[in-house]
Amino acid sequence: MSVQSLTLLGATGSIGRSTLDVIARHPAHYRVHALTAHRRVDELAALCLQFRPDRAVVGDAESAARLAALLREGHPRCAIDHGEAALCEVASAPEADVVMAAIVGGAGLAPGLAAARAGKRILLANKEALVMAGQLMLDAVAESGGLLLPVDSEHNAIFQCLPIDARGRADISRVRRLLLTASGGPFRTATSERMRAATPEQAVAHPNWSMGRKISVDSATMMNKGLEVIEARWLFGVERERIGVIVHPQSVVHSMVEYIDGSVLAQMGQPDMRTPIASALAWPTRIEAGVKPLDLCAIGSLSFEAPDFVRFPCLQLAFDALAEGGSASIVLNAANEIAVDRFLAGRLGFLAIADAIRATLDALAGSIAASIEAIFELDARARRLTADFIDRGAASAG
Ligand code: NAD
Ligand code: MG
Repeated sequence: MSVQSLTLLGATGSIGRSTLDVIARHPAHYRVHALTAHRRVDELAALCLQFRPDRAVVGDAESAARLAALLREGHPRCAIDHGEAALCEVASAPEADVVMAAIVGGAGLAPGLAAARAGKRILLANKEALVMAGQLMLDAVAESGGLLLPVDSEHNAIFQCLPIDARGRADISRVRRLLLTASGGPFRTATSERMRAATPEQAVAHPNWSMGRKISVDSATMMNKGLEVIEARWLFGVERERIGVIVHPQSVVHSMVEYIDGSVLAQMGQPDMRTPIASALAWPTRIEAGVKPLDLCAIGSLSFEAPDFVRFPCLQLAFDALAEGGSASIVLNAANEIAVDRFLAGRLGFLAIADAIRATLDALAGSIAASIEAIFELDARARRLTADFIDRGAASAG
């Protein structure tokens, strides 16, 4: 195995840190070209001192100046930049072989697309990029000869259960269905009354996974699973009718592929993102990830149940957006990001998240955005509409 050079977009996040944990176990095989973060400058500085990247990128000029001051002594040769253009540059730099796309939300799309156009080996955690611009991302990877490897645990599981060619493309011709598992999140068994009164702290307290705040709320509303259905549609080229969701509270079976002969293949493991990260990093081989062995006897039993589309309307909204086609997924994602933000700020009730998204989808029904410019424009429009809708108080009662 030759040395691979990595750009890590979103280094200070939950996925970013897990990625650095895995590569630190293999210093002879991975080196870090660039680390990026938005505002957590102190944390990024510590990571730069440990991993000694050539470049670091932060959100704004002030953060860049602070980072430069923090690295002056310990790592002065690190080139420091800020802003989206710099993110795109380190994502497409010739010095990087591999790009971990682990920025949260639509902010990850431009650098993700830059990596795709540059033919990188992309380890994709940033599902929002595919939800917003699946076709553009896939076209860019195909044209540049790049490789798109799923890090999201469900998609990584499915990827491991499918026949895959050398270009990373799945053969789905003998597949009946993809079955995405969902933990059900912290409100799997909660009453609607409890959910109505849910606080941000309760919503981000996921029973099995430790993740960033936005995706934790997405898991609590099950929008995360909805976004993942759309993600699966693009990654594997499977239409909506052949993608199912099944609730599996133990988070041991990470997803399944059902074949036409009745075989169902599952990938199992600890709920630890270092497994899918290591699997995508090393594909088609395997490396040590620091994950403790799965002890099925200690777990005892695995259970499965159907999702509740009534208590979790966000899941239905995502299926509907996928069915509508056009650009409904862009609107869904944008509205969700704003609504989750407002919920985390204590300005929107938990159940009102779905109301705000529905109102925005209705207002922008039939929108089409095919180019990247049009996608960003529609995304911005949807964000404004959702914010207006929430600020008018239409959704505040939850
Ligand atoms: P996080 O909030 O822990 O980290 C987000 C990272 O993105 C941070 O490094 C932050 O500095 C950076 N960032 C935030 N806003 C930015 C902006 N506007 N511009 C540039 N950088 C910005 O999030 P996370 O949980 O690590 O999730 C990252 C992505 O991976 C998300 O798309 C999420 O859906 C996906 N994902 C996460 C997990 C998980 O277990 N955490 C699992 C599957 C998929
Ligand atoms: Mg997932």
